[in-house]
Amino acid sequence: MDWDAYERDALRDFDTARDASGVSEVHVRYLGRRAALPLALREVRDRETGQLLNSLRERLEQGEHAASARVAREHVAQQIGSGGLDVTLPGTPFPRGRLHLVTQVRREIEDIFLGMGYEVWDGDEVSDVYHNFDALTTEPGHPSRSQSDTFYLDGDTVLRTHTSPDQIRAMESREPPIYIVCPGRCYRRDTPDATHSPTFLQIECLAVDRGITLADLQGTVLAFSRALFGPEREVRMRTSFFPFTEPSVEFDVTCFLCGGEGCTVCKHSGWIEMGGAGWVDPDVFRNVGYDPDVWAGFAFGFGIERIAMLRHGIPDLRMFWENDLRVLGQF
Ligand SMILES: [Zn+2]
Repeated sequence: MDWDAYERDALRDFDTARDASGVSEVHVRYLGRRAALPLALREVRDRETGQLLNSLRERLEQGEHAASARVAREHVAQQIGSGGLDVTLPGTPFPRGRLHLVTQVRREIEDIFLGMGYEVWDGDEVSDVYHNFDALTTEPGHPSRSQSDTFYLDGDTVLRTHTSPDQIRAMESREPPIYIVCPGRCYRRDTPDATHSPTFLQIECLAVDRGITLADLQGTVLAFSRALFGPEREVRMRTSFFPFTEPSVEFDVTCFLCGGEGCTVCKHSGWIEMGGAGWVDPDVFRNVGYDPDVWAGFAFGFGIERIAMLRHGIPDLRMFWENDLRVLGQF
C-alpha cells in the first residue's frame, strides 16, 4: 500500500469537501470501518508499522477536524449572507441554577456570626467516641451512645451526632480566647418524618474568654435572633439539661410571624423554640487543658433546617432532599 499517496489523497479530499456530508463521505472513504487504513491497523503485527499507521491516522483525523470546522464556519457565513439567519432574534433562555435553601440559610447564619467577630470552623463528620461523647462529659451509660441512637463505623468511631466534637478539637488545638461557630452535617438513627431525619445540619457557637458572663450569652443569642428574624424579636431562656453545659438553658424567640400574638407556626404560644445553650462545664475545660478558674465560656446550637422551615413556611423536612424543583425553585 502506498501510504504517502493515501495520505495525500485523503487530505486533499478533506480540504475540498464542500459541506458536512462531504466531510463525512471522505471520512468513510479513508477512516471508516472498511477503509484501507483501519483494516491495515487491525492486521498490524510489528511495532514499527503500528507506529507508522497510527501517526498517519492521527494526521488524517486532524485534517478531518480542520475540514469540519471550516465547513461549519462557511455554513454560518452563508446563512448570514443569504439573510436566512436573523441575528437580532432573542436567544433561547437557559434556566439558571441557584443555591439550595438550606445552604442559603447556613451562609446567612455564618455571615451573622462573622459580623459579630466569630470564625467559622469546619470539622470532620467522622469522629472518635472520645470527642463525640467522653470529652463532652457524656456518661458511659447515656442513651445517646447506644447503637440504636448513633451510627458506629467501628467500636471507637462514629458519624458525629452533633457538631460539639468540633468545639473540643478547636479548644485542643489553640489557646483562648476562642470565638467560633461550627456548622455541619450530623447523623442520628432517626426514622425520617416531617421533623426528623437521620442526617441534618447543626450550627454551634462557642465563646471562651476571661470574664464572660451569662449576660453575654443572652446578649449574643438576642443579637443573633434579631439579625435572623427581625429587630423586634425578644428572647427568653428556660432551664434545661445537657451533659456538657452547666447550667443549661433552652432559648425561645418571639414568633416572627405573629409577633407573639399566637399563630400556627408558634402553636399559639407566641414563642418559637430555637435551640439549647449553656455555660461550658468546668470538666470540659479540664478535658482540653484549660484552667476553669481562669476561663469561662458559653455554647449554643440549633438545627439549620429547622430555621429554614420556620422562616420559609416549609411544612416537611423531607422536602429539602426530595429535590423537587417546584419547591427548590421558589427560593
Ligand atoms: Zn406565631
